[in-house]
Amino acid sequence: MRDKYEVVIGLEVHVQMTTRTKIFCGCSTTFGNEPNSQTCPVCLGLPGALPVLNKQVVENAIMTGLATNCKIAPRSLFARKNYFYPDLPKGYQISQFELPICEQGWLDIEVEGGKQKRIGITRIHMEEDAGKLLHGDTPESSGNSFVDLNRACTPLLEVVSEPDMRSSDEAIAYLKKLHQIVIYLGVCDGNLEEGSFRCDANVSIRPRGQKELGTRAELKNINSFRFIKQAIEYEIDRQAELLEDGGKVIQETRLFDSNTGVSRSMRGKEEAHDYRYFPDPDLVPLVIDETWIEAIRTELPELPESKYRRYTETFGLQAYDASVLIAEKAVAEYFEACVALFDDAKSCANWIMGELSRRLNDNGLTIAHSPVTPEMLVGILQRVADNTISGNIAKKVFETMWQSGQEADIIIEEQGLKQVTDSGAIEKIVDAVIAANPEQVADYRAGKEKLIGFFVGKVMQQSKGKANPGMVNELMKKKLAFPLYGEK
Ligand code: ADP
Ligand code: MG
Ligand code: ZN
Repeated sequence: MRDKYEVVIGLEVHVQMTTRTKIFCGCSTTFGNEPNSQTCPVCLGLPGALPVLNKQVVENAIMTGLATNCKIAPRSLFARKNYFYPDLPKGYQISQFELPICEQGWLDIEVEGGKQKRIGITRIHMEEDAGKLLHGDTPESSGNSFVDLNRACTPLLEVVSEPDMRSSDEAIAYLKKLHQIVIYLGVCDGNLEEGSFRCDANVSIRPRGQKELGTRAELKNINSFRFIKQAIEYEIDRQAELLEDGGKVIQETRLFDSNTGVSRSMRGKEEAHDYRYFPDPDLVPLVIDETWIEAIRTELPELPESKYRRYTETFGLQAYDASVLIAEKAVAEYFEACVALFDDAKSCANWIMGELSRRLNDNGLTIAHSPVTPEMLVGILQRVADNTISGNIAKKVFETMWQSGQEADIIIEEQGLKQVTDSGAIEKIVDAVIAANPEQVADYRAGKEKLIGFFVGKVMQQSKGKANPGMVNELMKKKLAFPLYGEK
């Protein structure tokens, strides 16, 4: 039934900025402090207090605009968006309406079959956040609501996409890309659960081949990629069933409940607010000259797409490895720190994606908190490369390093883990293993060549893993190949 319809999705994303201070006053933006401890006449909305624009907010907006291929407006305006709510002390939110700071951008996403698709970005504008209502009990009272204005006036970017996405997968791909970019730029911490990156999804369907867009529903504030996908899927089913039953989709705002997987109507179009936008007379038009934009452009940090190209082309990594490493900026930085010290990018990648990730996961740590630093990890890789230890022993060294914080060379020395490369010593063990296992020797010589693993394993065991595996292999094969007297 769904196949008859084409899905159309447009996304509005609120990106909360990591600036030290608020957008129109000098109050701190630190999260989680005593309610109302980070407020002043401006963010409390006291009469007569005047907003002063935070320069860093503008720079962040320009950076985000440049990273998403937008045009940066030489002149933009702040506007008042009027509505009443207890967490909005002024009775209006300062936002941008006509003349936003960025327009006409795009992002390329990867869609089914590894193809690229371009998603348009209509606009990006700056605005202030509202405060927060806390409902519930306190020691003194119960069943009340409390207003905390610490978050009021926190800087936000709203990124509005064109209705260009055609499936929930495309929507998630776009969101993840945007999420990655704002984190790479350092303008947002990207924490969905804490609300630093909030998405409203506009979803409609239309019969395939129809030109006009269908009526959309807007799904509000969903706080994980998984739930956004779920909410969109639920909405597509709901609309398709409605149309199939001869009904009509009505334009409305819906709230998704992640516990039940169901959304319900919050308000219809009739109840939609008329915000009576008008230019804010307290703020002058924002004029941005070309030199400022160019200065910011040259300072932009390297973005994920460029890292990906560098990792695959310069370092010769597989596409999959490169995309895993760039997924998180901190991981990419760790990897680059390793490669700067040790030029075998492939083995750096293997260790980061293998042992290190496994250990971090087990301990619920992010790479920024890894007790094994890039310098320490490279210490192990160098000893594998110069044949001091085998790959297996290297894992043992890593384990000890993780727990003790010691350097590779000290661990190898103290635990006597140096690989045995003395062929005489290895030969002795090889001979002993052959002498002790006559049946297996006979089987091997009768053609069961898979047994080589058994013999090598025995030698490695007896040398406590320290014999050079390559040498053991070679020597063992040589000795076993020698035919017994009387055999053909
Ligand atoms: P509003 O500000 O009232 O939410 P906009 O016209 O600015 O309305 O659109 C908001 C978002 O909705 C944009 O991301 C846009 O791409 C998307 N959108 C608009 N029409 C549709 C539609 N018919 N189906 C899906 N998304 C839509
Ligand atoms: Mg909207
Ligand atoms: Zn303030």
